[in-house]
Amino acid sequence: MTEARRLLTRLRSMLAHGNATLSELVHLVGTEFAADACSVYAMRPGDILELVATEGLLPSAIGRTRLRVGEGITGLCAATGKVFNLPDARAHPDFVFRAETGEAGYASLLAVPVRRAGHTLGIITMQAREQHRYTEEEIDVLETVALLLAEILAGAGATGGAEEGLASSLPRAFAAKIIAPGIAIGPVVLRGGPVAPRRFLADDPEGEILRLQDALERMQRGLRELLDEHNPLREAEEGPDLSASREVLEAYRLIATDAGWLRRVTAVIHSGLSAEAAVQRVVGEFRDRMRRIPDPYLRERLADLEDLGGHLLSALAGDPAKADVEPGSILLARRLGPAELLGWHARGVGGVVIEEGSPAGHAAILARALGMPALSGARGAVDAATEAEFAILDADEGQLLIRPDAEVRESYLRAIETRSEQRAGWVSLRDRPAATADGTQLGLMLNVGLALELDQLDTVAADGIGLFRTEIAMLARGTVTDMHEQAAVYARVLDAAGDRPVLFRTLDLGGDKVLPGVEIEGENPALGWRSIRVGLDRPSLMRRQLRALLLAASGRELSVMFPMIATTSELRAARNLLLSEARRVRPAPSRLRIGTMLEVPALMWQLDELLPLVDFVSVGSNDLMQFLFAADRSAPGLSGRYDLLSPPVFNLLEYLLRKASEANVPVSFCGDAASRPLEAIALAGIGFRTLSMPSGGLMPVKAALADLDLAAFRPVLRVLRQNASGVASLRKPITTWAREHGVPV
Ligand code: PEP
Ligand code: MG
Repeated sequence: MTEARRLLTRLRSMLAHGNATLSELVHLVGTEFAADACSVYAMRPGDILELVATEGLLPSAIGRTRLRVGEGITGLCAATGKVFNLPDARAHPDFVFRAETGEAGYASLLAVPVRRAGHTLGIITMQAREQHRYTEEEIDVLETVALLLAEILAGAGATGGAEEGLASSLPRAFAAKIIAPGIAIGPVVLRGGPVAPRRFLADDPEGEILRLQDALERMQRGLRELLDEHNPLREAEEGPDLSASREVLEAYRLIATDAGWLRRVTAVIHSGLSAEAAVQRVVGEFRDRMRRIPDPYLRERLADLEDLGGHLLSALAGDPAKADVEPGSILLARRLGPAELLGWHARGVGGVVIEEGSPAGHAAILARALGMPALSGARGAVDAATEAEFAILDADEGQLLIRPDAEVRESYLRAIETRSEQRAGWVSLRDRPAATADGTQLGLMLNVGLALELDQLDTVAADGIGLFRTEIAMLARGTVTDMHEQAAVYARVLDAAGDRPVLFRTLDLGGDKVLPGVEIEGENPALGWRSIRVGLDRPSLMRRQLRALLLAASGRELSVMFPMIATTSELRAARNLLLSEARRVRPAPSRLRIGTMLEVPALMWQLDELLPLVDFVSVGSNDLMQFLFAADRSAPGLSGRYDLLSPPVFNLLEYLLRKASEANVPVSFCGDAASRPLEAIALAGIGFRTLSMPSGGLMPVKAALADLDLAAFRPVLRVLRQNASGVASLRKPITTWAREHGVPV
C-alpha cells in the first residue's frame, strides 16, 4: 500500500467514528509526514486566516494567530491559491515571524490551500526544522488531505467549531453590465458549481473506476443526443433552434474523451479517493491552472473541461442537474451557452448572471428575448456565492447583491411591488394607440432577432417590427443557414406580424457579432470588414438572403434595409442586387420598400443623393453614437460618457428629419436608446414619429408619451438647445422638466 493510501485509510477510519476533531487530524497528518509541525488555518469573515489547530506550534497560539489574506506565506497561499514549497521559509521576502507560535526554529514550509467550490476555506501547513523541499508525492498527499479538510471545515457539526463563519456571511455587491433589464430576487443556483461529492474516500479503486466509466458513458450519450438533435434535417423542419452550435458540441465531446485528464483522475482514484472526489480534485487543479493562462483560446478549452467536470460530477451523483430549481432562482454562471440558458429558463430560473458573458453574446441575446433580467461581468460572483443563499439581481442598476441586508431586501421587495402596480396600469394602455397627451400619434415598433420574440408583438401590442436583425438567429445557430431555412424564418416573422409592417435588415455580421470560423480582420472590428461590406464583397451570400426574403414575402409587402451604409454607392450596389433578385422571384412582393440604416456619420453629407434612392431611413444610434463620438459601444468604461441627449446629436437628427421630410422619406429610430422613456420623449420632441425598440421598453415608453404634452415640450426643448453652449448633455434639464410635468421618465 502506498503511503498516501495508508494515510487516507487511517483518516477514513478516524472520520468513520464521526467525532474527528481538527486536532486529531493535524496530529495524524503530522505524524504520517514525520513533520515537526502541522497546522490548519481557517478563513474568517473579513478575509482573515486564523490558526485553528496545530501539532507542533504552541497550542496557546490557537485562536490568537491571525493573518490577513496576502500576509506572510500562509496569507500568500490563500491569496494566490497556489502551493508553497519552501526549503527555508525565513528566506522568503513575504515571510512574517509570529513569536506567539513558537515557530522560531522552523525552516522548511509546505503550505497548501484548502479549497471547495472555488472558495478558499483555509490553509494547511507542514513545517520542519531542517531545510528540505517536499517531494511531489508529499504535495499530492497533502492536497488530498486538503480536499478532505475542506469537507470537514464546510460540513455542519464537525471539528470543534472551526467551521463557524467559514463561508463568508458578509453581504457582497458586484457591479455588472446590464444584458437584459429587470430585477430578480431569489435563491442562488450555481451553474458549474461542483456538486459536492457524497463520499470522499473509497477502498475499492477498481469499483470507482467502473463508476467513472459508466458516468462518462452516460454523459457522452447525452452529448450524442444533443448532437443528433442538431441534425440539419430536423432543423429545417423546425425552423431555427437555439441549441449551441454543432461545432461547439463536437469540441465538447472531444474534450470529454481526452485521455490526459482522465488518466489523472484514474491516478487520483488509485490514491484512495472516490470517483467524484477525484474528478472534483482534478477539475480544481485545471481550474486553478486555467486562471493563470493568458491565451484566450486555451482558457476557453480548459473552461470547457471545467464545465465537463461539472457534468461528470452530476452524472456520478445520479444527475441532479435535471432537478427542479426554486422558481425565481438566480443563476450564477461563469459562462453559459444559449441552449443551456433555455433549459434553465424552462426550469424556472428568474434571472441570470454570466461572469464572462458579453451583452452581444448569444446567451445575452436570448436572455433579452426571454425577458429574463440578466447581467454580465460581476467577476468573482460565482466564487463568492454559495448554492441556495439569497441574492438580488438588479439589472436596472447593473448590480448583483449576494446575502443583502434585511433592509436592502425589504426595499427591493417594495420596489418590485410598486413596479407590478405600475404594470397593472399599463394593461389599460396596451390596447390604446401610442399617442402623446395632446394627441400626436406615434408608431411604436419592436426590434426583434428571434422567432421566439414574435409573441411580444401581441403581448405589448406593437405597431410592427421596426428592425428585424436577421443575423441573430444565425448567431444563435452558430452558422449561416441556407436559403430555404432563412425563408422559413422570414415567412414566420411576416405571418406573425400580419398587417403590421416589418423592416428586415440584411445580415449585419462582424464587429461584435461573429460566427465561428469567420475570421475577423484588423484590431478594430467595429470599423472593419463587417456588415454591408461583407455582403457586397460576398454577393452570393447577400443574394441568397435577398432571395430568401423575397420568397418569404410570397406576394406580400416586403421592406428591406441595409446596415452600415457609408456611401451612396454602397447603397446603390445593394439596392441593385435586391432589384435584380426581385425580378426573378415569383410571386413578386405586392410592394417592395428599400431602406437604409443611418449608422455611419458620413451619410449625413450625402443625403441629397441618398434620399431619392430609398423609401425609408432608420437611425441606428447604437452604431451612430460610437462612430460619431469615436467611442467603442462595447467598452463598459465609455458607456454613458457621450450622450444621445446632447446638442450635436439633436442637431444631426433634426437636420436629418428636415432633409428627409423635404424628400418625403419617412425616418424611424431603432437604436436601443428608443426604449428609454426620457430618450423617447426627446426623440418625439425633435420630430420622430416612429420608434423601434426591444419589447421591454415599449410599455414604459408608451406610458411616458401618454403623459407628454408635446406642444408644450417642443418649445422648451428648442430653448434648452439654444442655451446649450458649453453644455455636454441636456439630460438633466429635460429630466427636470419631465418630472415637473408628470411624465414618468
Ligand atoms: C444600431 O446600431 O443602432 C442598431 C440598431 O443595430 P445593431 O445594434 O444591431 O448594430
Ligand atoms: Mg448597428
